[in-house]
Amino acid sequence: MSELVFDGHNDVLLRLWLKKQGDPVRDFLDGDGKGHMDLPRMIKGGMAGGFFAIFVPSAGDDHDDDDDVLNPPPAPEVPKNLSLPVAMQMAALLLRIARESGGRFKVCRTAQEIRDCLADGVIAAIMHIEGAECIDADLAALEVLHAAGLRSVGPVWSRPNIFGHGVPFRFPSSPNTGPGLTEAGKALVKACNRLGILVDLSHLNEKGFWDVAEISSAPLMATHSNAHALAASSRNLTDRQLKAIGETGGLVGLNFANGFLRADGSWRSPNGFDEMLRHLDYMISLAGEDHVGFGSDFDGCRLPAAIGDATGLPRLLDALTGHGFGQELVRKLAHGNWIRVLERTWGG
Ligand code: ZN
Repeated sequence: MSELVFDGHNDVLLRLWLKKQGDPVRDFLDGDGKGHMDLPRMIKGGMAGGFFAIFVPSAGDDHDDDDDVLNPPPAPEVPKNLSLPVAMQMAALLLRIARESGGRFKVCRTAQEIRDCLADGVIAAIMHIEGAECIDADLAALEVLHAAGLRSVGPVWSRPNIFGHGVPFRFPSSPNTGPGLTEAGKALVKACNRLGILVDLSHLNEKGFWDVAEISSAPLMATHSNAHALAASSRNLTDRQLKAIGETGGLVGLNFANGFLRADGSWRSPNGFDEMLRHLDYMISLAGEDHVGFGSDFDGCRLPAAIGDATGLPRLLDALTGHGFGQELVRKLAHGNWIRVLERTWGG
């Protein structure tokens, strides 16, 4: 039996929200076999839970999966009056999944709840916002969503908003692509600290990252990003950023997306697990083995064929063992580090 996997990022709520027919909640619970994950495939792959992103796509964000575009046009901003209703719909999908799961799926608010879920065979979900366009500068929506279970916020996706500037998808490019957090962004970080909400740095540009490092009292977290030294995407983290994540007791989640793994930035599948292993080795060397985990990006990207979907996770764990990682380290990467770091971030 392989280790259970707790994962730093998936976009299944977006996949379900985009469905035009039927009941997406039933599709998830019964398994529709589409995309990378649903409840039966999570269970089959030993995926015990993770961060479920509420993400409002930009208009016209419907790239063809056959394209291999390294430098797509910048994603347009999302108007706030459109993003709040869409965010409510996705949050409602997550809450309905939990309510209608017959006790098989829970939205967790504490690290202890996640531990209990893993012990009891219940899927542990974290409600996460990727790109905080639905949150107003007065932070009223943050307060309300926190009460509804929100425990993680990425202030920006790869586009600007009132809080800051996300990195546009560029290759090759430094993550230093624009100005840092706005005053509203700094207030958002402080409010998240106060409420015990994780601040996710994946998609934030480099100046924004260092602004959070200066302001935040919590460990630095990048839920789904890789090493820039190995794959020079704007979405990946410099050596200095990886070190800072380790030094603050934070975590970086290995992103499985081909374009963030491959040295040539291509979105085509690499062969086998070599790229993933190289990024893990590198990130462990800089952040430390207690500060690296997984952030699959399931249902949000194109994945190595060696993984395929959530049912391929045991093959990844076997590859780690074959690479010489001992059982203790595999357990840390699979779920141990995530749960320990969340406990510190949320304060219990
Ligand atoms: Zn993302």
